Amino acid sequence: MAAYDSNNIFAKILRGEIPCNKIYEDDFAIAFHDITPKAPVHVLVIPKGSYVSIADFSREATAAEIAGLYKAVAKVVEQLGIEEGGFRTIANTGLNGGQEVPHFHLHILAGRVLGPMVMPKV
Ligand code: 5GP
Repeated sequence: MAAYDSNNIFAKILRGEIPCNKIYEDDFAIAFHDITPKAPVHVLVIPKGSYVSIADFSREATAAEIAGLYKAVAKVVEQLGIEEGGFRTIANTGLNGGQEVPHFHLHILAGRVLGPMVMPKV
């Protein structure tokens, strides 16, 4: 696994160096709208700690950080009002997983029927 790159876009967002459309923040996580949404609702939830991927996070983060991230997901889902209609959560990882930004993030997609789990490339 590559070392964490502190110049990745989400690290810059966390440091306030570039803007984002933030909808949630607590001690452990922030959530903001994806810049190129793939569904009517497309939000990214990211831990404040420096973790490359879900594998890195799950292995290295403290129990408080892990709980904090998932509690943040629950808050965001509630805030967005998407639980009843349903939503999809994705964590792309590495080259085969199509991960573009090497700071662990969960995509939350909602607002329409999303279709097959692995979407065809357009
Ligand atoms: P990945 O492919 O790494 O799982 O997803 C990265 C996501 O970050 C993509 O959906 C992409 O649209 C989004 N993204 C990339 N750069 C920015 C940015 O500067 N701001 C925001 N809000 N989203 C970004």
